[in-house]
Amino acid sequence: MKKIGVLALQGAIREHINQIEAVGCEAIAIKSADDLVGIDGLVLPGGESTTIRNLLDRFHLLEPIRHLAEQGLPMFGTCAGLILLAENIVGYEEPHLGVMKVTVERNSFGRQIDSFECDLPIPKLKRNVPAVFIRAPHIVSVEEHVEILAKHENRIVLARDRNFLGCSFHPELTKDITIMQYFVEMI
Ligand code: GLN
Repeated sequence: MKKIGVLALQGAIREHINQIEAVGCEAIAIKSADDLVGIDGLVLPGGESTTIRNLLDRFHLLEPIRHLAEQGLPMFGTCAGLILLAENIVGYEEPHLGVMKVTVERNSFGRQIDSFECDLPIPKLKRNVPAVFIRAPHIVSVEEHVEILAKHENRIVLARDRNFLGCSFHPELTKDITIMQYFVEMI
């Protein structure tokens, strides 16, 4: 059985664990570098990217996770998790993990609509998924090899770069497990 870690510092941890179990995998909460041993994939949940970054530093997890990312461990970042993965963040000099070849912008869907839900078409999967956006980032640009999987209002909100899957929204806050299934197939 595939074993998938969920970074358990902040955010919707339980919801991701439920989705991982719903697709038939074992889920493990990651709180220290020791927990990373033996996982087949890692989910980076949403929350507040600057807070998660501080916690990654405090718990000495940034370098071990970056090392696994560079070795090809499949990683799925949702919302703040996408920001952690991105190689460039608009307005910031340094990225966090900086491993996914995309540029993201934080809080990019405007103040008056900080949170909203929509029915998002995923052409490659030939279906729509319910997508919850909460103070969501979007992907401003991608390197040529990156596969764009979904757009909302002409902004990229789901993309895959090699072993990295990043989305602006929160699939774990719905009952739909399409995106988690797609991630598990990357493993
Ligand atoms: N706005 C948050 C950030 O920039 C992300 C929001 C979320 O993960 N729901 O980190």
